[in-house]
Amino acid sequence: MNIILLGPPGAGKGTQASRLESERGMVQLSTGDMLRAAVKAGTPVGLQAKAVMEAGELVSDAIVSGIIGESLDALGDETQGGRGAIFDGYPRTAAQAESLDTLLTERGRTLDHVIELVVDEDALVARITGRFTCANCGAGYHDSFKQPAVAGVCDVCGSTEFKRRPDDNEETVRTRMAEYRAKTAPILPIYEARGLVQRVDGMADIAEVTAAIEAILDGQS
Ligand code: ADP
Ligand code: AMP
Repeated sequence: MNIILLGPPGAGKGTQASRLESERGMVQLSTGDMLRAAVKAGTPVGLQAKAVMEAGELVSDAIVSGIIGESLDALGDETQGGRGAIFDGYPRTAAQAESLDTLLTERGRTLDHVIELVVDEDALVARITGRFTCANCGAGYHDSFKQPAVAGVCDVCGSTEFKRRPDDNEETVRTRMAEYRAKTAPILPIYEARGLVQRVDGMADIAEVTAAIEAILDGQS
């Protein structure tokens, strides 16, 4: 099974993708995470992407579709036990949606669900500016909504180092939301016409959102 989680920045795509990854044996493919890793490593892709990401704009379609193709290759053949993909933050434009169709078809995979996380835009700035992650394992947290069980200690790996994204500031968030409205929201009708879109209330508690997504994946809603 291959699915897309779609929604504006801060909708909870990464949070849900990592929960589905551990609960269902699927693999989270986050273009944002891959690009941040490329920036950190100083690769040619990272050097091209850095300033664009800091401005909250979109990296070129060719770059992100290229890294998704490589990630799908690394997952292997789904009919031979290769795991299903959860696309998180990709596709973000009509051209990327078209590339994804080709990339999947070429590898004998199909797109099974597009799940839209529906959120109240006013809540997103608070979600994003309160976001932080474990510097060691990447587990996601929030100042108000998801603190570690023991303050200052990662629930998953016990690390005491945390970090915040340079683009998680109010000004950049506004640009990222404008990019979402202008370039990403318009791809929903493409998938709606194919009967693939289901909506989930992204304002519910994290566990409730996961349960709603799992019901869709299990064909119960
Ligand atoms: P996205 O990947 O869509 O940008 P994230 O999954 O990183 O969003 O979530 C943004 C922030 O909001 C994180 O700090 C996360 O802990 C928090 N968050 C995610 N889902 C919820 C939710 N349903 N309720 C409250 N906070 C949430
Ligand atoms: P994210 O982690 O999904 O919030 O993405 C962080 C940033 O990475 C975005 O603001 C973009 O600059 C870039 N990015 C991530 N995914 C894509 C994509 N599919 N297309 C273009 N840019 C992307």
